[in-house]
Amino acid sequence: MYKGSCLCGAVRYEIRGPIDRTSNCWCKMCQKQHGAASGPYANVASSDLHWVQGADAIARYASSPGVERSFCKVCGSTLTWQSASHSERNAVTLGTFDTPYEGKVTHDLHLESKPGWLP
Ligand SMILES: [Zn+2]
Ligand SMILES: [Zn+2]
Repeated sequence: MYKGSCLCGAVRYEIRGPIDRTSNCWCKMCQKQHGAASGPYANVASSDLHWVQGADAIARYASSPGVERSFCKVCGSTLTWQSASHSERNAVTLGTFDTPYEGKVTHDLHLESKPGWLP
């Protein structure tokens, strides 16, 4: 099981199942939302993701048709990315994990947008 939380601690979650896939998305929208070069995600079954605290502190934003990103409305930490056409899956931001993830990110998405300023 993996535990995670936002920066301010209002939102806490548990992933009670396996991480099936990890990805690092370099698209412009992930850069904007994360305020960073990329958005690293762990792909899990939606039924394994449990908001154990602060579900009412989660804001949701439809960044494009059928895609919803969630974040803490207190501190702004990005939490999930989800496609409506695959709502049985959820991509949880690896940076909000409290339990160390021992694996490596295995997939890169939208590498064409990788910024040149990254070392
Ligand atoms: Zn927060
Ligand atoms: Zn992206």
